[in-house]
Amino acid sequence: ERTRVAIIGGGPAGLLLALILHRAGIDSVVLERGSRDDVLSRMGADMLEKATTDILRTAGVGGRLDREGLVHDGFDIAWRGEVLHIPLRDLTGKTVTIYGETELTHDLYDALDEAGVPIIHGAEDVRPQDIATDAPFVTFHTVDGEHSLECDYVAGCDGFHGVCRQTIPADLLRTFERVYPFGWLGILTRTPPIQDELIYAHHARGFALCSLRSPQLSRYCLQCDAGDDVANWPDERFFDELEARLPVAVAAHLKRGPSIEKSIAPLRSFVAEPMGHGRLFLAGDAAHIVPPAGAKGLNLAVSDVHYLSRALIAHYRDKDDQLLKTYSETALARVWKAERFSWWFTSMIHMFGEEGTFSQRIQEAEFDYLAGSQAAQTALAENYVGLPY
Ligand code: FAD
Repeated sequence: ERTRVAIIGGGPAGLLLALILHRAGIDSVVLERGSRDDVLSRMGADMLEKATTDILRTAGVGGRLDREGLVHDGFDIAWRGEVLHIPLRDLTGKTVTIYGETELTHDLYDALDEAGVPIIHGAEDVRPQDIATDAPFVTFHTVDGEHSLECDYVAGCDGFHGVCRQTIPADLLRTFERVYPFGWLGILTRTPPIQDELIYAHHARGFALCSLRSPQLSRYCLQCDAGDDVANWPDERFFDELEARLPVAVAAHLKRGPSIEKSIAPLRSFVAEPMGHGRLFLAGDAAHIVPPAGAKGLNLAVSDVHYLSRALIAHYRDKDDQLLKTYSETALARVWKAERFSWWFTSMIHMFGEEGTFSQRIQEAEFDYLAGSQAAQTALAENYVGLPY
């Protein structure tokens, strides 16, 4: 078996890469450990930057996104009972689009099926081999037995817990990490959202987020202890706590309903450098993680795929390897800016359990500055809608 690009991981990064390469006439095979249902049952992201939607449209998966995606001109930050509106469109000329990661993954599967791009599900014990040589290959097994896939390049799109990052020799790989002392308890509920736009609420009891997937599907999140358990959070308790963290006038619009998904996610900032070695290139969560405030995770996966696909296309079409050589550097420059923004937003909006401390006063000053300065709001807005590629 042989292909040009072996793509390990069939999450949004791997699927989108396969599609963009296919459109450019470059064949690939996607090796995914889970089943299609596993991939589609993940909760994931809900906010797409303008540049992300442009890339998806160019790849031919903009149809349903344009029909069903909700364009947002701004969002709110609630603090001490006040609400500060951040008018993204007025400040930057750009908007963001609400469209669930699950929906995007559906669209990518449909487009890949139609194009006939092979996606192998249930691929176990996937191992990239000889990546520092000119003849890499990937071994794996499925219910049909052992396989070896020869390729020109390996794309490591296998998420944070994947195998590809570990393939880079330890003495060449540097990692940078910050683990936050809390998690996000998130639910999905089939109810109309509390309001049209998102609200990020800072409160002495902890941070709360009111988000949405569609006009009938709400997503709410609460800052919780990192070691907490969803079993401690029956729906009633979740909604009581959410209401307590929102300004009274906002909470009055909350519509309660049974949760259809409930999970706790740890919050982490993480970057691996370099984002490749030899003929292996990492993209998406395989190389970096951001805490979810600011919704950069999926958008970063898409920007990596943009840079990587561009570099592979230059290699095959123009016999030019310059973009492949600089891929890691180029992708990391944008990654670090999104890491900085996600870290800053996370640090401003959560409670760090340090009442009356220097850090808490700085947090308050940060918000007062934001509330009183259009320049500060513009800096927030331009990062939120996504920095230029
Ligand atoms: P993944 O989606 O992790 O895909 C990796 C794929 O590789 C998976 O399908 C996995 O099964 C497969 N795989 C792993 N190991 C192997 C292996 N050894 N062999 C073969 N296949 C393998 N981001 C935002 O921007 N906004 C949000 O609001 C947001 N909320 C989130 C909430 C939750 C609960 C979670 C978990 C994530 C959230 N994220 C959010 C992050 C966002 O979902 C990720 O950044 C995005 O999914 C990254 O895509 P990816 O393709 O790089 O990785």
